[in-house]
Amino acid sequence: MASDNTTVLITGGTVVNRSGETRADVLLSGGIIQRVEPNLDATLPAESSGGPRRLAAEGCVVSSSFVDLHTHMREPGREESETIATASRAAALGGYGACVAMPNTDPAQDNVAVVEFVRLQGERAGLITVSPAGCITIGRNGTQLAPFHSMVAAGVRLFTDDGSGVQDPLIMRRALEYARQLGITIAQHCEVARLTDGAVMHEGCCSSRLGLPGWPAIAEVLMLQRDIELVRETGASMHFLHLSTARSVEIVRQAKNDGLPVTAEVTPHHLSLTDEKLTSFSTLFKVNPPLRTMQDVEALRAGLADGTIDAIATDHAPHAAHLKDQDLSLAPPGMLGLQTALGVALGYSGCTTKRIVEAMSWAPAKIAGLDATHGSDLVAGAAANLVVFSTEGVWRQTPESIVSKSRNSPYFDSDLVGSVHHVVHRGDVVVVGGALQ
Ligand SMILES: [Zn+2]
Repeated sequence: MASDNTTVLITGGTVVNRSGETRADVLLSGGIIQRVEPNLDATLPAESSGGPRRLAAEGCVVSSSFVDLHTHMREPGREESETIATASRAAALGGYGACVAMPNTDPAQDNVAVVEFVRLQGERAGLITVSPAGCITIGRNGTQLAPFHSMVAAGVRLFTDDGSGVQDPLIMRRALEYARQLGITIAQHCEVARLTDGAVMHEGCCSSRLGLPGWPAIAEVLMLQRDIELVRETGASMHFLHLSTARSVEIVRQAKNDGLPVTAEVTPHHLSLTDEKLTSFSTLFKVNPPLRTMQDVEALRAGLADGTIDAIATDHAPHAAHLKDQDLSLAPPGMLGLQTALGVALGYSGCTTKRIVEAMSWAPAKIAGLDATHGSDLVAGAAANLVVFSTEGVWRQTPESIVSKSRNSPYFDSDLVGSVHHVVHRGDVVVVGGALQ
């Protein structure tokens, strides 16, 4: 008798939930977790006798799948660099069950037609949940608010002009007033553009030595400070994208101590790499915000560990080879991140596995407004969106292992730790043994 493919049993793993870690088998069917108990493997019929399909998880962690708050899928408009289908493949292999698609596409995600297109392309790819973010301003021009109401009705919960910060305090104040009424979150890319014109890398000793135009930390800090005061005034929730400086961590810590409804993310690369990488003059290390100093990296790690920073978000930013293969001043900023995020988190964050699951799944699911179906504890009745990963083993990324359309990873020379074994999305097994099904 053939095994029943709609029923899956994950055997022998350690289930990581908010309440703690337990050794248990996990039975899934109909897109729902049915049972989480020890020794189900021994009590249910074997696969060869028509029992559930088995996925081995011995020595591995089993948790809700990861949720990325910050994925540049490049579609529509930049399909030479990435498509929603290729980004979905990279995401699934990275252990993700959902990604927030950043709206700096062409056309921008500033209206219902474009966000619906992005969501549908995600459904067609069928590997992860693609949740489009909406723009704060039309065409991300920073001057005219996008139609929030209609996009909220279409399911958008996070609004951002990411790629650039909203410079005008009047526009940001109005956006936050609407956000408060509508119960949505505004996500800010903190960068005072006037201070970063022509910048290539972090402004500091290294940029002076290399003679490259510097990107000062204060460009991030000033906008962060301003927006926290706007949150204090309006009471709206705000999420701060890809924080990169030690001072930013202190500011968010204080805002949280003041009880303000703010959240923050850090990227894998800001937890693991410094501005010294630019001594190679490789455009792979050009990113916005830039790689900063070891002191910043250590402050970001501490902020992640103590919960000041809520989430690890990739800022996965594919760029076709001919774009990155330009002079540092011309090459666009950005790095791949989906396939390496877990390896970086385990290798460089210094956080416990449970804290990593919290920062890569539970917290971002809530910030993205996806917590009805993602980032749940693995208990009977929860949606079957989960990942099985190992926390051991060292590997390095190779160009051949990349499934994104672009190859601009900064991790070809870095040791990464752990690996994704299996991923289940809405009850469908999409990754087995580290390979797409
Ligand atoms: Zn950004």
